[in-house]
Amino acid sequence: MTSALPVVAQWFSVTRVDAATLLVSEPHVDVFLRANLWLVRGSERDLVVDTGNGIVPLRPVVAALQDDPGKPLVAVATHAHCDHAGGLHEFDQRLVHEAEAGQLLRLADAPPLLTSSWPRAFIEECAAAGYLLPDVLLEARPSEEFDPSVFAPTPCRATRALRDGDVIDLGDRRFEVLALPGHSPGGIGLWEVETGTLFSGDTVYEDGDLLDSLPGGDWEKYRHTVRRLRDLPVEVVHAGHEASFGRARLIEICDGYLELTGG
Ligand SMILES: [Zn+2]
Repeated sequence: MTSALPVVAQWFSVTRVDAATLLVSEPHVDVFLRANLWLVRGSERDLVVDTGNGIVPLRPVVAALQDDPGKPLVAVATHAHCDHAGGLHEFDQRLVHEAEAGQLLRLADAPPLLTSSWPRAFIEECAAAGYLLPDVLLEARPSEEFDPSVFAPTPCRATRALRDGDVIDLGDRRFEVLALPGHSPGGIGLWEVETGTLFSGDTVYEDGDLLDSLPGGDWEKYRHTVRRLRDLPVEVVHAGHEASFGRARLIEICDGYLELTGG
């Protein structure tokens, strides 16, 4: 089954968003696990927001995109799901919310690329919503030797545990940590008030379909999170999956979720 997957030489795609922001993605991973990974260049250090599935090393790709290759890299996982934290172990500075630091140590517990290892109820919920998950969440392989059935992300220990209100300082830019539980217990956003830029992780997506039923999800906390986001003077949201969007769409998404979950 998996040997039918084509082998591709280039695993990551890179898109320039603006002078200081690059988007890295894994186009050969099924859309469900195809997260957005961001590099934000700062004057003293560069920020990596999310690290993908860990199928192919990310750090060399990110390092090649730095304007100064000697600049320190700070890698943040917006939460510990496998498609965001899989490459975190490659970086010297590894940041995650304190509520999910323990989950980073258990990343290897289940092979994430086979849906047979996923919670049955979640797969059925996806199917009911019209998304039939394939058996293998890949559209290609990085090499002949790569076996999705035995692949598991590499666990790691966080070097800094984040809390709401913490600041990640890049020198000329400062991102505030927003604790945004709901999709997962320790989901965070990174908020730059000067530019109105929010990296939202999996808290909001452009299509408005918010996932609150994964293990650790909590719709009551999610409602609180969504109310908080609705009040932010956002210019642009760079989400953990799908396209970026502006404040009008953010408000629609927030209102849609609040309505869906009880008004
Ligand atoms: Zn997630």
